[in-house]
Amino acid sequence: MTDHAKQAAQSAGTCPLCGKANGCAGAAGRSHEECWCMNEIFPQEILKRIPKEYLGKACICKECLEAFKRDGG
Ligand SMILES: [Zn+2]
Ligand SMILES: [Zn+2]
Repeated sequence: MTDHAKQAAQSAGTCPLCGKANGCAGAAGRSHEECWCMNEIFPQEILKRIPKEYLGKACICKECLEAFKRDGG
């Protein structure tokens, strides 16, 4: 594995908003189908906060999603 690939794998398991583990099944090497994020709705507003380079690669963690919903962004 190259350093670059390693970095990508790491960031896939890291929330792009808070930098903590996002618990994503896809990042853990399992099917993304079984990821908790597949059953959640991510508002467009929270997706806009993700840096471009992480968009579609790293999941937001549950904590950030819930904080966003609770505080309304
Ligand atoms: Zn987070
Ligand atoms: Zn996920």
